[in-house]
Amino acid sequence: TAGGSPAVPEQGANAREFARAQRSIPGGVNSPVRAFRSVGGTPRFMVSAQGPYITDSEGREYVDLVCSWGPAVLGHAHPEVVKAVQDAAARGLSFGATTPPETDLAELVRARVTAGGVAPIEKLRLVSTGTEATMTAIRLARGFTGRDVLIKFAGHYHGHSDPLLAEAGSGLATLALPASAGVPAATAALTIVLPYNDLDAVRTAFEEFGQQIAAIIVEAAPANMGVVPPAPGFNAALAATAHEHGALLIVDEVLTGFRVGSAGWWGLENAPAPDGVVVHPYTPDLVTFGKVVGGGMPLAALGGRADVMDHLAPLGPVYQAGTLSGNPIAVAAGLSTLRLADAAVYEKLDAASLIISDAVSSAFAEAGVAHSLQRAGSLFSFTFGSDVAPRDYADVQRQEAFRYAPFFHSMLDAGVSLPPSVYEAWFVSAAHDDTAIGRIVDALPAAAQAAAA
Ligand code: PLP
Repeated sequence: TAGGSPAVPEQGANAREFARAQRSIPGGVNSPVRAFRSVGGTPRFMVSAQGPYITDSEGREYVDLVCSWGPAVLGHAHPEVVKAVQDAAARGLSFGATTPPETDLAELVRARVTAGGVAPIEKLRLVSTGTEATMTAIRLARGFTGRDVLIKFAGHYHGHSDPLLAEAGSGLATLALPASAGVPAATAALTIVLPYNDLDAVRTAFEEFGQQIAAIIVEAAPANMGVVPPAPGFNAALAATAHEHGALLIVDEVLTGFRVGSAGWWGLENAPAPDGVVVHPYTPDLVTFGKVVGGGMPLAALGGRADVMDHLAPLGPVYQAGTLSGNPIAVAAGLSTLRLADAAVYEKLDAASLIISDAVSSAFAEAGVAHSLQRAGSLFSFTFGSDVAPRDYADVQRQEAFRYAPFFHSMLDAGVSLPPSVYEAWFVSAAHDDTAIGRIVDALPAAAQAAAA
């Protein structure tokens, strides 16, 4: 299947399942990137996963570098997490009433997200998806400030709520254009989309619209346009600029939270250096979590300043609710995952990530494929065509993206499952041991050759 579009249709169980799925499900998938549109070929229909491996409906096992797009930080189906979920399920699937473990999880998140003596999560609310967490965070910021305008950055993904699916028109003052059909232009027009890592653009926007801006929302370290880490001090400058103008800073850690470190990306940036100094300290007003916090179950959260969080119903006028918010099984999975994700787990993640990303980079170099490797903690990705690291979405879009599909399919044929798009981060887990890493390394030379062609 190298090249992305096989000349002969594939005949196995995956192809049959895909044909069947497309008759009943739009595009055959329940989330678009799963359809393999940007790499071509037939998506693998998965049936089970264990540790660093995932198995498709033809019984083929792959080393998994998607890890459910982030949650599987311990590897798939960790026995203690599975046991916690089974025990919770036996006590009842959903109560629609409050439960003690929800408070345990809120306390655990509050206690973990600390750095340099600062603890930005004073209160936490549980929801079911990252989309809900960011949607509620922006409603809360608007309700708290009494302002309507949002700033987001091009290439940052915060889920699929209307106000966050907006792209910039040309120039700051022009109407922002919706990035999806069905988003009212009037909604998109309240979102200013700026180039990432560009403080001048942020300051100009505040000079012009400062009194109307409720919040800046930013991925803590962007990983939805590939990985593009913030310039040193960028997040701190966002906080300072927002606060100067009475706006809030919402840091989206749905992807980075509890994956890049025990206190998320914020924790890495705010950890004191050996001399005790935090180089660029900042305190977000609101932080959103998802993925790892639910340990693979539908659970996400938003937290932050108590005075802001207390604007949520029932204390305050900003409405948010959910039949399955704080669902007992999801909470059990999250609690168990966070309790297991200790310092040793993050050391393993960092080590596996370094070995794998270096091996891929070396294979590309060997095959003469010009590329840049970007890292944000244990998250990493590659851009093709230049060794200059991209700083924003425009840089990312200039790459030789066509090199990824043949590379992806060569790896897949060799038993390594990569994200099916060049615009996604690669995810490792603490279960990626020497055997799993060995399989990845063995597959690389041929795949890098395919990317060179
Ligand atoms: N925010 C970020 C940074 C994300 O990466 C994602 C999902 O990938 C979301 C929000 C949305 O989360 P969900 O897919 O759970 O709705």
